[in-house]
Amino acid sequence: MAVVLLAQQAPPPATPIPQTPAPSIAPFPPARTPISVVVLDPGHGGADSGARGASGILEKDVALSLARAVQAQLERQGFRVVLTRQADEGPSIDDRAATANAERGALFITLHVSSIGATGTAMAFYMPAGEAKSGAAPPPLVRWQDAQQSYAAQSRKLAELIQVQLGQKLRGSAEVPQAVAVRQLRSVTAPAVAVELSSVALPDRKPLDAAAPGLAEAVARAVAAFKVVYEAGAL
Ligand SMILES: [Zn+2]
Repeated sequence: MAVVLLAQQAPPPATPIPQTPAPSIAPFPPARTPISVVVLDPGHGGADSGARGASGILEKDVALSLARAVQAQLERQGFRVVLTRQADEGPSIDDRAATANAERGALFITLHVSSIGATGTAMAFYMPAGEAKSGAAPPPLVRWQDAQQSYAAQSRKLAELIQVQLGQKLRGSAEVPQAVAVRQLRSVTAPAVAVELSSVALPDRKPLDAAAPGLAEAVARAVAAFKVVYEAGAL
């Protein structure tokens, strides 16, 4: 049996690997999930009526009609809308946040009716940014009740855009939103705003129903404007 000896090949001469500098890449904003969903939260519901006017107007009822009006406007703009309640149910605040947090590319707007304020005006609220603790290491996990903190700047921008529109659609409304620690917002992991119409303290709810289309249009326009700014990575 012939034995074939393979001639050992000399290793190729070591060629120095050229030391090229690592290519530099201009920084660019991370890809963002486009905003396609708006979770609308009609405040209160079920056993929780919310604010109650002397004439019997219930915040929970008006909040649901507002949500329906806003839903119609947003759907006309091409957004998918998820309601946290469809009728007179009473999901918990955590349930409502969980509904929002299950969506990707979502915004959250909770709708309320105050017991004070000029008739037919509305105010947007956003969660104030927490005070940064200088020198402290960031916590490894964000507590459920602090989840909104990561979205503080975006929520503020959304509230500002909504308030500008409210000022145009509902005369007498303020021009800037308010930073308030609204419990309904604190566990939402998305840009989140509360909108409150004034008020249940009326002889009947006709002025509130009359304000609903303006409020709905204001929110829809602001959401469309926010989508452009957000997706451009400008926030
Ligand atoms: Zn309320």
